[in-house]
Amino acid sequence: TVIVFGSINIDLVATVSRLPLPGETLLGRDFFQAPGGKGANQAVALARLGIPTQMVGRIGADNFGAELVKSLQASGVQTENVFVDQTVSSGVAAIAVDDAGENQIIVIPGANGCVNQDDVERLSRLLPQASALLLQFEIPMSAVVAAARAATEVGVRVILDPAPAQSHVPDELYQLVDIITPNELEASQLVGFSVTGAESAKKAALQLRQRGVKNAIVKLGAQGVVCATSNETFFVPAFPVDAVDTVAAGDAFNGGLAAALSEGLSLHQAAIWGAAAGALAATKPGAQPSLPDRTTFDAFLKE
Ligand code: ADP
Repeated sequence: TVIVFGSINIDLVATVSRLPLPGETLLGRDFFQAPGGKGANQAVALARLGIPTQMVGRIGADNFGAELVKSLQASGVQTENVFVDQTVSSGVAAIAVDDAGENQIIVIPGANGCVNQDDVERLSRLLPQASALLLQFEIPMSAVVAAARAATEVGVRVILDPAPAQSHVPDELYQLVDIITPNELEASQLVGFSVTGAESAKKAALQLRQRGVKNAIVKLGAQGVVCATSNETFFVPAFPVDAVDTVAAGDAFNGGLAAALSEGLSLHQAAIWGAAAGALAATKPGAQPSLPDRTTFDAFLKE
């Protein structure tokens, strides 16, 4: 089993011709809601690739929470350890997108912000059966660190997506991480210099390794990824596709990466699986709806 410990959100998306000014009321065009949250997206990415996946996290006791759990289950994610918090709302992202594709986003962490040591304890009970633990930064940092510690203690590999970008990450966390997977912006925040393109990504990856991470993979969007391991640095090019929307491409990458590792493949091969899943996610709009199933994925890799 692969465990994902992280955020579960509902995205409420309104489309408008232009974004409203402070105090202004505008008529929008369309509205839709869709399941999201980096944690849930990564869990769905894994489960669609046929990997037994457990989601550990929190939702509120509201209709959104119930729907979010249903949609995780519909993709095959095990949700017995998604805790219903009676005291807060589910995590919500209120998003406005204008005609130029510019957006305004308000994220209410809700239940995600209440993830704590109790959840880490529920997670710890699952660790003996787990092959990997996937973490992101949409739940409190103290919970992320405690989870990484618990996994490391029992020899479970920790894969950290340091997103959304953070500049302050506890030193201890680096030492607990087997694979860190920042994009260019996240890598820049972590290392303190601008990361754009393969050259600077390699420098950043090496620096992250010096901090104690075993392997660093810097995601470069349509270019591909740079990987630094204990004995080599290599580049994996992106798969050429007609990208329509790269939302959740990074989550798809992490799902593909962890799926390959749980099937016993090498880190190099896992980076290729990640790149394939990321590319496929970029060819479809939306977050979870764009994540590929195993049949589509295998056919794409064979081409
Ligand atoms: P994030 O979503 O975290 O910003 P990226 O945009 O770098 O991450 O995407 C993650 C991975 O998905 C990339 O490293 C790449 O392998 C793949 N990917 C993303 N965008 C494209 C694209 N336009 N074409 C092909 N592959 C892509």
